[in-house]
Amino acid sequence: YAAKGNASSVSLYDNSHDAHNPRRLAMITELGSAIRSEQLVLHYQPRYSLQEGRWCSCEALVRWQHPKLGFIPPGEFVQFAETSELIRPLTLWVARTAVRQLALWQQTGLCISTSINLSTRNLLDITLPEALAELLREYGLQPGSLELEITETALMTDPDRAMQTIERLAELGMRLSIDDFGTGYSSLAYLKRMPLHALKIDRSFVRDMLHDDQDAIIVRSTIGLAHSLGLQVVAEGVEDPATLSRLREYGCDEAQGYVLSKPMAHAAALRVMQAPLPI
Ligand code: C2E
Ligand code: CA
Ligand code: CA
Ligand code: CA
Repeated sequence: YAAKGNASSVSLYDNSHDAHNPRRLAMITELGSAIRSEQLVLHYQPRYSLQEGRWCSCEALVRWQHPKLGFIPPGEFVQFAETSELIRPLTLWVARTAVRQLALWQQTGLCISTSINLSTRNLLDITLPEALAELLREYGLQPGSLELEITETALMTDPDRAMQTIERLAELGMRLSIDDFGTGYSSLAYLKRMPLHALKIDRSFVRDMLHDDQDAIIVRSTIGLAHSLGLQVVAEGVEDPATLSRLREYGCDEAQGYVLSKPMAHAAALRVMQAPLPI
């Protein structure tokens, strides 16, 4: 099959949602072997605690280093995995790689946690919590050092079943956060019922908060809401120092974004987290 577009913006296939698309099926076949043959790689984006003044966590973000197509970002293939049985092996590969890396980092004395992204389908898989807990035991990590980022929309398909998985993850000691907060349909009643650790405010609100009053109001009230529910707040996609200091003034707990660090291979991410804040 042929890739569309050029190497710098690989847009793999049209009709990506057509289950009978032969190229889509080829993609799924290849992704399965890519997971097995270590063609995937994780980049880590450090998270900074604004209140404690230190690096406190990092998010694992998957990439596919395809032998012919080159680097493929997650937006291009995670959706294929989500609509197939591959999402479980993909997520477990990500979890194992991130947990193994975290164990190595903790051995160097770095006091951080790590987060991975779960998809809708992962939340319907009630065997996932035990598999993750087993992984943490295998690498000798505290369950609380793994945070699972879930989206509001992931809760919509089968809320009862998703809630069962979420409760089990929390019982086993893992942390849960809501990703892209504010972009989906969140019932506040649901948020209240869920054993959450943090809300991650979506980049779309953070991006223009210095210039757009409504965005600023949304960011401030989300921080207030989260804190009154006993949750931490992470601002995503912070791209400039002025936004970072405004977030600190607002009482936001943590920040993540290009102004602090882009997602990077593990060695480079470690160098960032061992150094003081660059700004
Ligand atoms: P996300 O979880 O919301 O991850 C944040 C995305 O924003 C990342 O894109 C990151 O590189 C980018 N980003 C971080 N800081 C900034 C910033 O300051 N400015 C801008 N413009 N962008 C920033 P990435 O790595 O391409 O990931 C895209 C999405 O793919 C993720 O969105 C997540 O939903 C999904 N994804 C990534 N890895 C995994 C995975 O292992 N499993 C699953 N299920 N989904 C994943
Ligand atoms: Ca995320
Ligand atoms: Ca996000
Ligand atoms: Ca996102």
